[in-house]
Amino acid sequence: MKSVLVSRFFILLPWILIVIIMLDVDTRRPAAPLTPRPYFSPYAVGRGGPRLPLRRGGPVRGAEKRNESRQQPQPQPQLPTIYAITPTYSRPVQKAELTRLANTFRQVAQLHWILVEDAAARSELVSRFLARAGLPSTHLHVPTPRRYKRPGLPRATEQRNAGLAWLRQRHQHQRAQPGVLFFADDDNTYSLELFQEMRTTRKVSVWPVGLVGGRRYERPLVENGKVVGWYTGWRADRPFAIDMAGFAVSLQVILSNPKAVFKRRGSQPGMQESDFLKQITTVEELEPKANNCTKVLVWHTRTEKVNLANEPKYHLDTVKIEV
Ligand code: UDP
Ligand code: MN
Repeated sequence: MKSVLVSRFFILLPWILIVIIMLDVDTRRPAAPLTPRPYFSPYAVGRGGPRLPLRRGGPVRGAEKRNESRQQPQPQPQLPTIYAITPTYSRPVQKAELTRLANTFRQVAQLHWILVEDAAARSELVSRFLARAGLPSTHLHVPTPRRYKRPGLPRATEQRNAGLAWLRQRHQHQRAQPGVLFFADDDNTYSLELFQEMRTTRKVSVWPVGLVGGRRYERPLVENGKVVGWYTGWRADRPFAIDMAGFAVSLQVILSNPKAVFKRRGSQPGMQESDFLKQITTVEELEPKANNCTKVLVWHTRTEKVNLANEPKYHLDTVKIEV
């Protein structure tokens, strides 16, 4: 009796296996491409339902459900363009800084990089870099007058204004497309989440900045969804005690305040942000981001000055290398 059961089992076994394999092949999803996107963004599909994509592109591996895999992609509502104005100047670390920045920006959907060189002409290094960066960009230049190139004076005033002027000119004849502007210094560190937060700016939005003002962070103080003051270790009497990396402005606000610029006259370092924001908004109007300004999503990092003590005075190498 036992041997009959065992022999029947072995006769049926191959058939059972064949049926299992057929079922499995039929329902298997199409294989994901080898490199669907260069980088998996943890924010593209987050907890609590779908969020705005950082960058539109191929499917996120494993994110789609079985039955949806053959559906056409749904048309997405138009994302506001993020315009990032970056002043930059020639120094040994410049290309390294720009490389880190481009690597971040490349993960962000619908971002336009306005790179403004502090120089009398566009440099070859930056031109070549931008051409290969794979980002929608505009390359501007304006030199800081020599008299303003002193310690203790605000930096990059002319460059930020050149970026503002370009934006206003580009949009002067058409109805403003949805857009958001922010000032992205070339040495700071930006989380990808920051761009999702600023993208929904209606007028002027604000958030905390890490490693700034002699503290671990500075932040707007929020009560009932409104900014009511500033947590800062430096000149708390500033009307907007916030770093350049701590706010974004809608394109609409930039266009409807055509005279708002960064001023040289009467402006001290550290007051630039306040002087600018005073021209376009009020504290009551500010929109707190980053969970009511309780999350640090950007850091005011500063790059150490490189040691070139052993750099030869005259060119010694057999090749010329761009660094
Ligand atoms: N910058 C510039 N010209 C200068 C000094 C600075 O264009 O002579 C740029 C710099 O590349 C950066 C921004 O201005 O994007 C702010 O400068 P920095 O990071 O030195 O200022 P801090 O960190 O002290 O705010
Ligand atoms: Mn800096």
